Amino acid sequence: MVTYTPSVLIHGGAGSSRPTRTQLIFLEKILCRGYALVHAGQSALTIVEEMIEALEGSGLFNAGLGSLPQLDGVQRMDASIMDGKALTAGAVANLEGYLHPINAARLVMTETDHVLIIGDSAKRLARHFALKRLPRPNKPVRPRSRSRGNPPINTRTFSLYKKMGKYGTVGAVALDLQGNLAAGASTGGVSVMFPGRVGDTPLIGSGVYADNSAGAISMTGIGESIIRMGMAKWLTELMRSGFSPSRAASHVLKELVHRIHGAAGCLVLGSKGTFTIQHTTPWMAAGHWNGKGQPIVGDRFSAPRSFSPRKA
Ligand code: ASP
Repeated sequence: MVTYTPSVLIHGGAGSSRPTRTQLIFLEKILCRGYALVHAGQSALTIVEEMIEALEGSGLFNAGLGSLPQLDGVQRMDASIMDGKALTAGAVANLEGYLHPINAARLVMTETDHVLIIGDSAKRLARHFALKRLPRPNKPVRPRSRSRGNPPINTRTFSLYKKMGKYGTVGAVALDLQGNLAAGASTGGVSVMFPGRVGDTPLIGSGVYADNSAGAISMTGIGESIIRMGMAKWLTELMRSGFSPSRAASHVLKELVHRIHGAAGCLVLGSKGTFTIQHTTPWMAAGHWNGKGQPIVGDRFSAPRSFSPRKA
């Protein structure tokens, strides 16, 4: 007998900019597609991969096509995916030139004995499996002259930041008809980052975690703060010890802010289908659906308890 409710949750980043209507409409469309896949009996892993792939390809978010460039003007992307049934996981970091880092992450998981592959090696893996390339060349525009003391950032990078500053990282979690959980995320990183910078997104246990016996997590926000607190694994362990998704998220997000002044948002899905979406940032583009009523998509969800008088 099924004692849980299959569900899909999706996010398009947490931050200080309000998500656009176009982004929210797109999230809703992909959420519906994700739930249709649940209904058709697809695995949580495939559902998470397909939802993230669609968000990467849209150009509406800071992932895949819409990825922010690093300070040298080059887009380098991070992604990870985890299967809660076997605790298998795959990730890529600083991948250049490919449209769907989430596909590369899944291939690391299924086709290698490793969990994380970075930089040129990730690129070689993507090339080996003939993954789809980014449609435009990913060439940096260098400062005209170093001797004139130009800063290591150029006009093209600044204008890309301006254009893309409102985009968000993407992520998803799902619980399928068999009771399996999966989680994933994909990002172009944060604004103004050193070339080679890696955030929480490809780090299993920081940005993403899934374990059928506890829950599935996808994080977004300032990666450096999420890494320092080991957020995704911490949330999972709290749920294993009996915390509800909501209580676990509230506790961990409060700690993140009080102890290190971090900023983040999270999708937290428990093994029976209960879930929460919480963030410490002013906005978070996200949605959820378990097939009942209408899919819910919004730009603001519950804040951790101490942040929200409504929930006190
Ligand atoms: N967590 C991502 C990173 O630090 C960025 C984000 O979620 O917006 O790379």
